[in-house]
Amino acid sequence: MITLVTGGNRGIGLEVGRQLADLGHTVLLTARSLEAATAAASRLGPAAHPLRLDVTSQENTERVAAEIADRFGRLDALINNAAITYDTWQRAVDADLDVVREAAETNLYGPWRLVQVLLPLLRKSRHPRIVNVSSEAGSLAGMGGGTPAYTASKVALNGLTRMLAGELRPEGILVNAICPGWVATDMGGPGGRPVVAGAAGIVWAATLPDDGPTGGFFRDGRPLPW
Ligand code: NAP
Repeated sequence: MITLVTGGNRGIGLEVGRQLADLGHTVLLTARSLEAATAAASRLGPAAHPLRLDVTSQENTERVAAEIADRFGRLDALINNAAITYDTWQRAVDADLDVVREAAETNLYGPWRLVQVLLPLLRKSRHPRIVNVSSEAGSLAGMGGGTPAYTASKVALNGLTRMLAGELRPEGILVNAICPGWVATDMGGPGGRPVVAGAAGIVWAATLPDDGPTGGFFRDGRPLPW
């Protein structure tokens, strides 16, 4: 299996790469800088291939697609993990809309761009999977105020997940949104659960069997309310 992880140089993305490498996947470990990608890949061993990818860049994304096409000819799983701006300092009533827009560039348009550009390679896989790493912050069911840039971007990512799942279901491409839970990373801060636990639910979604779910929202393999 050939699997691409965005934001693979630290946090949950790095641990997802490690778990997938242990399962025998070829892991395309991507990061905004080639140095960071190379350093992270070297920690995972020969199964990991470093690639430079800023998800806000169309040019980067197209270059990565061309490299994958040349070296592997297909992609089995795309894990949209990279995200920014857990804006605990803001409220929706007076949020800086430039910050909201910037968060969407990475957290929403990044995954959307990757799916569009990498779809021809995913279509060459026999078991294609798309995993959008979301957050329960994006669940409308229990939503109150706070973290408006982050929350709006994850709500939209969940909506994108449903649209892609609906459109790609006839082709057997499974698309799901996964919340890793509160995880002790740079974004999550101290006190969250270990990255091993947060990454496991993402790996689960990337390795679903062909009759597995699509268009769902899960944590630890169990459904979450939208
Ligand atoms: P993190 O520790 O802050 O790591 C974020 C990763 O995303 C870094 O590798 C970062 O790269 C990368 N990134 C940011 N902007 C990028 C861009 N434009 N292009 C490519 N990569 C970019 O975050 P995390 O806690 O591991 O979070 C991973 C995912 O889990 C995110 O989608 C997050 O929303 C979700 N999540 C996390 C928690 C939690 O408690 N931690 C809870 C719910 C959901 P640099 O090193 O270059 O900055």
